[in-house]
Amino acid sequence: MVPKLKHALWEREGADVRILVEDPVEQIVLTDGDGRLERLLELLQEGKRPLDELVVALNAVYADAGTDAEPEPGTGTDAAAEVTRAELEEALSVLDGLGLVFDASPDGLTPWQRERYSSNLEFFATYASLARRPAEFQWRLLDAQVVLLGVGGASAALQALCGLGVGRLRLVDFDLVESKNLVRQFTYRTEDIGRPKVERAAEWVRAFNPEIEVEPVFRRIAGPQDVPALIEGADLVLAGIDQPVAASDWVEEACVAAGVPYVSGSGQGSQLAYWSVDPGRSACRRCATTGNAARMGDLAGLLGRLSADRPVANRSTGPVVMQLMGMVTLEIMRYLTRFAEPVSAGRYHIVDLTTGRLTELPWEPVPDCPTCAKAPTR
Ligand SMILES: [Zn+2]
Repeated sequence: MVPKLKHALWEREGADVRILVEDPVEQIVLTDGDGRLERLLELLQEGKRPLDELVVALNAVYADAGTDAEPEPGTGTDAAAEVTRAELEEALSVLDGLGLVFDASPDGLTPWQRERYSSNLEFFATYASLARRPAEFQWRLLDAQVVLLGVGGASAALQALCGLGVGRLRLVDFDLVESKNLVRQFTYRTEDIGRPKVERAAEWVRAFNPEIEVEPVFRRIAGPQDVPALIEGADLVLAGIDQPVAASDWVEEACVAAGVPYVSGSGQGSQLAYWSVDPGRSACRRCATTGNAARMGDLAGLLGRLSADRPVANRSTGPVVMQLMGMVTLEIMRYLTRFAEPVSAGRYHIVDLTTGRLTELPWEPVPDCPTCAKAPTR
């Protein structure tokens, strides 16, 4: 283990050391009568020494301090006493408990990966600890398989997933690129009009990051029997197929039965929403639509019934889809790395595009839900 201090600054006030944490901005005050803590913080900021070397470095200072007239700024009587490894471990455990340190020991990434994903690693450092190195979050992404059912609006998520370095992607779609897609689907170019989306999307992925394995599947999902094979091996599914309307139910059934979480989202007029289902852990969307029908209100229910078989106008402009897919991809990142627990499992996160306001609408689990009953124990 090579403990390293996270992004933090500090200043001394008498016997106290005031540590200002950069993210989230907060202040931690620790007592440091003999100056050892401050010296430890300096060494941890370098983040280059394993524990035994830290002990030596800490004691070297106090060997020097013992010969000086007065240890600075120490007032304790044992300022010159040797720091033991057990004391160091205890101090590190306290700092770890405060979320101030992580393990910066060699991480198994190639130099190319470490450079390419350096911002990911900095992001994960915020959530890392002595027990979990930043690279361990990145490994999860590199090892993950995500299946995109639909690469229309989800092509924005595809690009973000490739930036994250998700290792294996299966892209399933039966659509051809149309000029009207180009308002929001930036993986496709004017010259791609008429080509299968999955073909061009896979080409984009390979050019963007040759380390990612991409499998394009040019296929229409015609019934529930088609879904299980398409999601096989997936750690997570991004459900973005809107036709036929029942496809979202088929995808949910298959994902819940296979114990594979799925994330989905949609825009409707001035609102956009995303949600996810964590099989066996959260309510499913069937719970939401059956159990919570009353909460949706009469007009919403009536609208759903009247519009079920009518063509839906797509009012999604580029910024709308990018905002939605940004939130969706961040949620996928939560599922895959667990840098934080998923926030949308069993609930709608709704953004009002007029006001920018975000609201949540949790779903009540239905005790006898036939879909949830199929979820394996995880
Ligand atoms: Zn359910």
